[in-house]
Amino acid sequence: MTKPLISECTIWNNKNIKIVCKTIYYPHYIEARFSICKHILLNMNNLESYNIAKRKVLKQSNFLVWTGICQVIPPNLKHLEFNENELNSLEFQCGENHFNPLTSRSKHFYELLILRKARVSRGFIKRKEKFRLDDTAVSKAFLNLRSIWSETFVMTFQFQILNVITFTNYHLAKIGPNGLCTFCGIELETVHHLFYECSFTNLIWTDFASCG
Ligand SMILES: [Zn+2]
Repeated sequence: MTKPLISECTIWNNKNIKIVCKTIYYPHYIEARFSICKHILLNMNNLESYNIAKRKVLKQSNFLVWTGICQVIPPNLKHLEFNENELNSLEFQCGENHFNPLTSRSKHFYELLILRKARVSRGFIKRKEKFRLDDTAVSKAFLNLRSIWSETFVMTFQFQILNVITFTNYHLAKIGPNGLCTFCGIELETVHHLFYECSFTNLIWTDFASCG
């Protein structure tokens, strides 16, 4: 009789695999055909292996439970063979591009990272329509953030104004008593009112224009 490979040892009710001194038995893992150590894909990091398992069969679990199981399997039971087919399944579609982490270079990872950050906010789209800005004016507005001021706080504040995510009294009124403008006390304090319509702000803009 041939001795089973150590990586083919069962995970469930195994005296060598315990959480808080107790052997483990998770029926939903067994239903998803996770029964022996090598099914846990221990040659990868926990996140990679969890994503693959989740995509294939594992529906009822979460990352913490998965990580818990990975941690308690002793090193001598780990399956360390490199399985390229499993790694290849990390490929995914991103917009029009097919992204493969194995062949991608650092600049591709960077493009992936900034892809989501570069989305135009709904607030800015409204602002663009309101002021009838064309694409040149838009890029100028965002590029100016970097060139006009080097102080991070001011840049962040200007970025908030552009994207209409500044918390004004209008928004605070939803959790407080009053949404009226801090300066004129007449209109609702929206970002548009505060920086464009308010009679007090207009005094500053008029002053500013006369300096030029
Ligand atoms: Zn006002």
